[in-house]
Amino acid sequence: MRPIVAYISEKAFAHNLTQVRRYAPHSKVISVVKANAYGHGLLNAARGLKETDAFGVLNISEAVTLRDAGYQHPILLLEGIFSAKDMGLVDRYKLDTVISHRAQLQWLLESQPNIPLRVYLKLDSGMHRLGFQPADYQAALDQLATSANVSEIILMTHFANSDLVDGVTQAMLKVEQAMTAQPYKRSLANSAAVIQQPQTHADWVRPGIMLYGATPIAEKSAVSLGLHPVMTLQSGLIGVQEIEAGESVGYGSLFTADKPTRVGIVACGYADGYPRHAPTGTPVAVNGVLTRTLGRVSMDMLAVDITDITEAKIGSAVELWGNLVPVDAVAQSSGTIGYELLCAVTARVPMHVI
Ligand code: PLP
Repeated sequence: MRPIVAYISEKAFAHNLTQVRRYAPHSKVISVVKANAYGHGLLNAARGLKETDAFGVLNISEAVTLRDAGYQHPILLLEGIFSAKDMGLVDRYKLDTVISHRAQLQWLLESQPNIPLRVYLKLDSGMHRLGFQPADYQAALDQLATSANVSEIILMTHFANSDLVDGVTQAMLKVEQAMTAQPYKRSLANSAAVIQQPQTHADWVRPGIMLYGATPIAEKSAVSLGLHPVMTLQSGLIGVQEIEAGESVGYGSLFTADKPTRVGIVACGYADGYPRHAPTGTPVAVNGVLTRTLGRVSMDMLAVDITDITEAKIGSAVELWGNLVPVDAVAQSSGTIGYELLCAVTARVPMHVI
């Protein structure tokens, strides 16, 4: 068996959910488990997060997977429905849905659910992706409020800049204007807002990345935020090379040794989800000792510097990311964010829940 494995810690999920509740003690939690739970396995996440108040998903198929596995929690479709036909499944599987434009509103109003639905009405507070404009919000709300298809309305937005210290000031002005004097509950905050924008917590928070133990805020490490990494991407050395000064490693010979160097070859490449653009120097741990990658990442392998890790040999354990090497550090070195790396782990990497 190739030694690569993604270990998924149920304890870390539970811990991170507790952290969400510490940051937002008066809010209920919609745990965002879209994109195969940010690459962690939807059902792994559901089990680890079973104490959540609700789940948030993208596709109805994800919601059906949760229902079929027995989860009775409210499940929110974060982008709502994609056609009128979806309403049948929303009704059948007792799902909550976001309504973010007039077409979705029509599909909902014209459907005939067996029981009225809980609906999240989305305001565009400045992201300009999905959501009603402030000027159109009240009219949409009035239509929902008078529909027999609707049991509860929750007012919602999604911030463009909650990771910046002053990043929600403008958006909150729009929120207060559009949602003013409404008797309805609200859901505004993603992970960054849960952590650093307490004025946004409201009734339902919607954390994603912090539940997986990565940071939503570039300047703050996950450890400093009290989060535990859920995924450890581990592999092993499948080759060792001793190279002289002047010799190179990997495709394109991007790394050339300036002194005699011991090179470990790791069973992990971009076909496993490791970023191909991770440059020489990206952090990695061998036998529990921090070191760096060397040269270009290839499809199935990458090279690491084991010159100073004398006991390292074929079979030695390599942590690509996890507790010793935060996924955010690999992401930063590679010019991306932890979210992308976690979501990108491919199906050929076996996942073990621990
Ligand atoms: N709410 C909505 C509508 C989202 O689309 C997302 C994720 O993109 C989240 C919440 C969770 O965001 P984060 O992972 O930054 O906490």
